Amino acid sequence: MAFGFCACCAPTRRGFLGFTAAGLAAGGLGGCVAVGRSMAPGDDELNKMGLQAWSQIKKKEKISGSAKGRARVNGVARKVVDASGLGRSYNWEFALFDDKQINAFALPGGKIGVYQGLLNLATSDAELAAVLGHEVTHVQRRHAAQRIGAQRAGQLGVQLAQIGLAAGGVQQSDQIAGLIGAGVSYGVILPFSRDQEYEADEGGLVTMSRAAYNPNAAVTLWQKMAAANAKSAKPMEFASTHPSDANRIRRLQSQIPSVLPLYESARRA
Ligand SMILES: [Zn+2]
Repeated sequence: MAFGFCACCAPTRRGFLGFTAAGLAAGGLGGCVAVGRSMAPGDDELNKMGLQAWSQIKKKEKISGSAKGRARVNGVARKVVDASGLGRSYNWEFALFDDKQINAFALPGGKIGVYQGLLNLATSDAELAAVLGHEVTHVQRRHAAQRIGAQRAGQLGVQLAQIGLAAGGVQQSDQIAGLIGAGVSYGVILPFSRDQEYEADEGGLVTMSRAAYNPNAAVTLWQKMAAANAKSAKPMEFASTHPSDANRIRRLQSQIPSVLPLYESARRA
């Protein structure tokens, strides 16, 4: 993996994270990596954070009453997590939330949330698999741990965390950040960096192909996301990340030939 989380040191839309934190304190890129890693939570701690965030989110959000929608999420998510190789690693749980936001997330510890708005946008199961493959890759590569490590290295306070969460459009920002004092971390749903997003896109393509979903659906999904984003005044969490839609789509298109054989062989299996 390249210097994934060190995109935090780049001047991005949320650039204050980088400059106030690891970048200056540690005196450059190398230091940022070292400090961030040493402060990143281990698997047990990370999974515990994920489970705590999950129970909070489930208390707040309404589970969809659509049995058909829930079955669709469960069916596709199961195939995707099995194809990721993490199927037996966690007690996976999938939820469809009754909310029109175009959003989805996967938490450390094996919990996946999909919002009805996203399900409406991802009209084919392959498009849904593209989203879920992307999210599962964030878990697989421990992206949240990297972000938390970087944050801890910068000793960001609750106030800054709230600003960061709000900038990412995370709906539960106040709630999650407010829980820090109670020992619950907000970090698991922090916005990811641009490089982490590209990694998740690439890993997602591999995973969806192994699950026998046509990887071309990742392109149509992101085209729809771009169109929805253009219409929306408020950036969506899932889509509000740093890669521009055009760059993201171009990259996905260039990677599809290399994963098509995985798709073809999974389809024949
Ligand atoms: Zn992502």
